[in-house]
Amino acid sequence: PGIVSAYASEAERDAEVSVRPKRLADFIAQHRVRDQLDLLLRGAMGRGAPPDHILLSGPPGLGKTTLANIVAAELGVGIRVTSGPAIERSGDLAAIVTSLAEGDVLFIDEIHRIAKPAEELLYSAMEDFRVDVVVGKGPGATAIPLDVEPFTLVGATTRSGLLTGPMRDRFGFTAHLDFYSSDDLRTLLHRSARILGVPITEEGAAEIAGRSRGTPRIANRLLRRVRDFAEVRADGVVSLETAKAALQVYDVDGLGLDRLDRAVLTALVESFRGGPVGLSTLAVAVGEQPDTVEEVCEPFLVRAGLLARTPRGRVATEAAWQHLGRTPPNGTFG
Ligand code: ATP
Repeated sequence: PGIVSAYASEAERDAEVSVRPKRLADFIAQHRVRDQLDLLLRGAMGRGAPPDHILLSGPPGLGKTTLANIVAAELGVGIRVTSGPAIERSGDLAAIVTSLAEGDVLFIDEIHRIAKPAEELLYSAMEDFRVDVVVGKGPGATAIPLDVEPFTLVGATTRSGLLTGPMRDRFGFTAHLDFYSSDDLRTLLHRSARILGVPITEEGAAEIAGRSRGTPRIANRLLRRVRDFAEVRADGVVSLETAKAALQVYDVDGLGLDRLDRAVLTALVESFRGGPVGLSTLAVAVGEQPDTVEEVCEPFLVRAGLLARTPRGRVATEAAWQHLGRTPPNGTFG
């Protein structure tokens, strides 16, 4: 993944573990979700029973995996981690749920990608804490009912709209994670820097926060890159100057756009006078596949208010012209 991608490689996930908050009280921001989870978990603990199943939805890198681990830690139970794509057959799921200890958390990432037969088995595990495992084929097939210890399912999805109705109905609690404000990311960066033992100034944290696209994962990644720069080419302190210089090396600009994001905006403004222009034409102009432009670049350009998708094509907003330091043709914006 690119430097400002919200996705992480396996290696990066390992690097993230040290700065991952372990308890609800250390989880930065998302106050509403935190408060609701706190009630849910305390209520359940008071009754000595597992809480309702929990669905976490929201874009990647905002803390779903972190929250799943926090739920287990707060409840003082074990956690089993898997993902929708890893569960191909119902037998895979049966093996997992029957091996859970009482009260355990089962975390299924990308739960919307679970295979259909496994999904149906999951329903009965969630609802009745029991699964029917079918052995044999054809007329001789028999269903063997197996008990499952009471557990808490924590499902994560980037696209809650893709969940089937019956699946969604089986979660007693749903939380949606939103992008973080720059202020929240500043707090997060100070916390991460403290854990990593990296000196950081207010201005340094603010500069990185502003380029992190509202995403904790990106903030932590940029912090690691700026730390390298500060240690190798400066005095080791993450300051405004080292942040700016380091992020220039990595081609991340003041709004968190990378080289390709800027190429798309620049083509739109320079070659097509701000649009409207069709997606495929725009993609050819930057030498990329339309899918890449649409799925990798556009979501953030739209969210940042730099690009608009209209029925007649892509259009650069006034903010885009400003960001590129250019003047739109007279009359473009009123
Ligand atoms: P994915 O769906 O790609 O797995 P995710 O939403 O599960 O993403 P996490 O892996 O939980 O995201 O978080 C990414 C990184 O951001 C981790 O290093 C995590 O510690 C950090 N992080 C996320 N949210 C917070 C938060 N509220 N406070 C502190 N750190 C956070």
